[in-house]
Amino acid sequence: MEHQDLLSGLIRLHVLHHAVEGELYGQWMIDELAHHGYRLSAGTLYPMLKAMEKKGYLVSENRRDGRTARKFYRATPLGREALEIARLKVKELFGEMIS
Ligand SMILES: [Zn+2]
Repeated sequence: MEHQDLLSGLIRLHVLHHAVEGELYGQWMIDELAHHGYRLSAGTLYPMLKAMEKKGYLVSENRRDGRTARKFYRATPLGREALEIARLKVKELFGEMIS
């Protein structure tokens, strides 16, 4: 992905947003990000999800989805708290960037 270092924080927030709203799995998140113009490979997203789990923002659970075994992620209380803080920061930045 182009400008990955710069944009990866926004992608993490996007992931966290959906993990707070419900559950997600890797391929679903790749498709969702693609709708928003981010082209991420599994090789980029999966380590990102793993790292967010290691930091305590997400928890995962292996479950079968029909014939496919999937790893479902959702936000932890720490993830919810972090998203709330980030929401205020994004709002602040949005006000300055978009006028
Ligand atoms: Zn989204």
